[in-house]
Amino acid sequence: LIQIEGLWSQFGQVVVHQDLDLAVRTGEIVSLVGGSGSGKTTLLRQMLGLETPTRGKVQVFGENIHQADGARVQQLRNRWGMLFQHGALFSALTVLDNVAQPMRELRTLPEDLIRDAVLLKLQMVGLTPQDATKMPADLSGGMVKRVALARALALEPELLFLDEPTAGLDPNLSDSFVELIRTLHQEMRLTVLMVTHDLDTVFALSTRIAVLADKHVAAFGTPQQIVAVDHPFIREFFLGPRG
Ligand code: ATP
Repeated sequence: LIQIEGLWSQFGQVVVHQDLDLAVRTGEIVSLVGGSGSGKTTLLRQMLGLETPTRGKVQVFGENIHQADGARVQQLRNRWGMLFQHGALFSALTVLDNVAQPMRELRTLPEDLIRDAVLLKLQMVGLTPQDATKMPADLSGGMVKRVALARALALEPELLFLDEPTAGLDPNLSDSFVELIRTLHQEMRLTVLMVTHDLDTVFALSTRIAVLADKHVAAFGTPQQIVAVDHPFIREFFLGPRG
């Protein structure tokens, strides 16, 4: 579903990715982990077509996203959802209008269908019809994440990108958010690619973990395989300073 081959990313003198390969299959939940500055966000932005690599191929849904024209990229974007780290809701819009926005942009759906679809998406993420009329400023952090997730799911995506999905949530909210992602993955048969520092989330959800180190994917495997890899970053990240 995602195929990255021979990727190089360079900013001035700084080489962030050097000959990086990564392949994500349909139905997987892949966590991308790595130290600060290892290039996780850059890689995510390249998969979303928001940033062009210096060299190499990034294919999503079998299409080279950096060679497709604007209309084609928009079609591909409608097949994935993205949950940004800080929720990124429009503060001047109600919850309903926030979730409706991707559907309205399509300009093909009548307003009553959009409304029904929004209420269904809110229900899927554990919110009520009463929540639909609230403004983002009136929501708790956990609710903002849920609304942002409902919006990411608005167009029934096949693929969901998550950037630090549990950042800023307390442990209880974080657990229930993880549970929600797990349920959605099963029910909607979503493929999920997430960037996260949260080890509990990594182990609770990932079918495979991709470790970014030394400017490439230094290890890629199931959680059990990854913790057995002998690599300084992996020892430090997964097993702690004395691991
Ligand atoms: P963190 O975990 O701290 O968020 P990260 O793994 O997501 O880090 P990136 O944000 O992708 O890392 O950054 C990787 C490197 O690329 C950093 O050294 C950063 O300064 C550099 N970088 C990223 N984007 C740009 C840009 N547009 N111009 C210059 N340098 C950039």
